[in-house]
This record gives sequence, structure tokens and C-alpha cells, in this order.
Amino acid sequence: MKGKPVIPPVYMTATYKFDNSDDLIDVVQNHSGYIYSRWDNPSVVEVEHAVAHLEGYDHALGFSSGMAAISTAVLAHVQTGDRIVTTREIYGGTFELMNTVLPGFGVDVTYVNCWKTDEILAEIDKGLTLLYLESPTNPLLRVVDVPTLASAAHAKGALVLLDATFASPINQHPVQWGVDVVIHSGTKYLGGHHDVTAGFVCCNKPCSDRIWNRRKIFGGVMDPMTAFLTLRGLQTLELRMHKHNQNAMAVARFLAAHPKVTAVHYPGLPAHPDHKIASARMTGFGGMLSFEVASDFDGTKQVMDRLKTIKLATSLGGVTSLANQPLTNTHAALSPEAREKAGVSENLVRLSVGVEAVQTLIDDLNQALDVI
Ligand code: PLP
Repeated sequence: MKGKPVIPPVYMTATYKFDNSDDLIDVVQNHSGYIYSRWDNPSVVEVEHAVAHLEGYDHALGFSSGMAAISTAVLAHVQTGDRIVTTREIYGGTFELMNTVLPGFGVDVTYVNCWKTDEILAEIDKGLTLLYLESPTNPLLRVVDVPTLASAAHAKGALVLLDATFASPINQHPVQWGVDVVIHSGTKYLGGHHDVTAGFVCCNKPCSDRIWNRRKIFGGVMDPMTAFLTLRGLQTLELRMHKHNQNAMAVARFLAAHPKVTAVHYPGLPAHPDHKIASARMTGFGGMLSFEVASDFDGTKQVMDRLKTIKLATSLGGVTSLANQPLTNTHAALSPEAREKAGVSENLVRLSVGVEAVQTLIDDLNQALDVI
């Protein structure tokens, strides 16, 4: 038949058939084709190529979630006696991995505030196996000096991992900073529509071989339908990110001028402590921001409950704007002291600015803030 599908098919297959045993043996021994979808699947490989290309690495690997990507990438590179240097401001699930799982395997983890570059450098100087970073951070949008830290870690023979979920591959280019493994929760901007749970790592050999092997063993591989939906999301990634960047900047400026808002955390605002570094290192400031309501926990809760267009929900990075109170969501498990250290106050609201008409979002925030 003439004509081929513009859109690739979804290969909903768990296994693959062979014409003869020699072909099967060749695939098992030389990884020269498909044998079983926990190893590889054509739909997953298709989206992996697209993500690798976006981030500028030779390889990307698809996972069943961002946490599957993070835990597999970290566990692929540490063993008993190793040391990880990381920051306090990492994602809650990653913190649990670092704080509860890894010490049980005899891996030492040291935490430093992400903006204290000199203190992180001092810890790197003591020797380490992995430097694990996240930038920009949740929920205060701190921007880490990744290139400086990465070159210091490399000088000590360590590997550098960066969770770049908040930026997406459009707003920053970690490959230029020498990052060894870039990680994304594909659930966020890459999927972009709040309908997939997905994760990716991007890296070159030999990291990719090692992580591929551990993915095969741990089994947290991406499924073909998720790969298909994520590939569809990627087709509009650049378009969406430009709109996210524009909308978030407009919303941040609106909130900064609002009498019932006491602080706005957005790296695009000159008042943000990392505005200078973000301007130098990033090509867009992103769609995430947080702000503090001129009220207590209950007053802030009332503002949340009055939002209409903006949905009260966890997660981020999709076309629909989402808001939540970090105190009751992402940082609920933290002790009051740990929350204070993380800068999570009772009146803090995290906002994932979507791609709706921006005036609709501003009007929604305005009427919600009217409640206090
Ligand atoms: N990294 C960051 C920065 C996140 O915000 C999240 C989830 O919110 C994750 C990783 C984990 O991703 P997933 O929920 O897809 O496992």
C-alpha cells in the first residue's frame, strides 16, 4: 500500500518473535534488536531518541515515572561506602530516597543549601562519588550554579546528576555545563497535559549502558502508550514552554504588585536572589512560581478554595494551571524545623502557570485574593 502513517504506531507488545534461533541469540548477546519490552520497545525507543536529541545527549532512557528514573540512575552508580553530596532543596521523593533508602545500603549523603555554593564546594573537596543537583528548585525557584559545581565534582572524579524537570529541555541546556546525567519527570512539561506518569534520563555511554542494565533489573521501564502520549506532548513542547514563560512572568509581575501578596518567588523578577544567575544560565525563566499571601494558613487556604480556572492540585508542568499549598502537599512530611529551613511558610502557594489566556489567570487570582 502506498502512503505511510505520519504518526508512529503504538507497539503494544510485550515480546517479539524471531524467524530463527540464531537471530534470537544475536539479540540476547549483542543487543541488536528487540526481545522483551522490559528491555526495549520501539515506541519507547522513539520517544527516547526525541528526548536525547532535545537535551543533546547520545542516549535517553524512558521510565515509568520521574522517581523510577531518579532511583535507577542513582542506584546504578553507588555502592556501600560511597558518598553523595546533594542539596536540601531536592524534590521530596528524591529526599526520601537519599534520607531513608541509601543510608540503609551504607551510602553517606551530605546536604547543603543549594545557594551556598562555597559550602557545596567545600563538601565536594572532601571527596564524593556523586553530586546530585536539582535546578530550578521547588518551591522557591532557586537557581543553582551547576557549571561551577559540576567542574569541581569532575575534578574529584565524581559523576554529576541534575534533575532539570522545572526547566524542561527548552529553558536550560545542562549538556553545556558538563552534567553527566540529566533527569526529567516526564509527568511534567515533557508530557505536558497531566495525562502521563513518566521519567527520563539523558546521558552518554558508559552511563547509559549502566542505567539501561539497572532499568532492566529493577523493571521501572516506560510503557508504550505513555511513550506515544509523551511523544505527542513533545511536538508542542517548545510552543508550550514559550507560553508558560510568558504567562508566568505576567502573573509574577501582577502578584508582586498586589497588596495582599507579601512575596513572589520567580527567577524572572529582578528581586529574586538568583535573578542574575538565572539570566546568565537559562534561556527562559519557566512556568513555575510561588507566592506568599498576606495571611495565615487558614486565610491562604480560603484563597486556594476560591480559585476557579486554576485547579487545586498537586503536580505541575501541564497546559492547565495548578496551585497548591506546599505545606499540605509536597512538604507535608517535613518537620516544622525542616520546613522552616526549606523556606516553606504557612502562607506559601505554589503555582504551575499553564497556557491559558493570561488575563483569565490574573482575574482568577485577583478574585481569589479578594477573600482576605
Ligand atoms: N523531580 C521533580 C522536580 C518533581 O517535581 C517530581 C514530581 O513532582 C519528580 C521529580 C518525581 O516525578 P514523578 O512524580 O513523575 O515520579
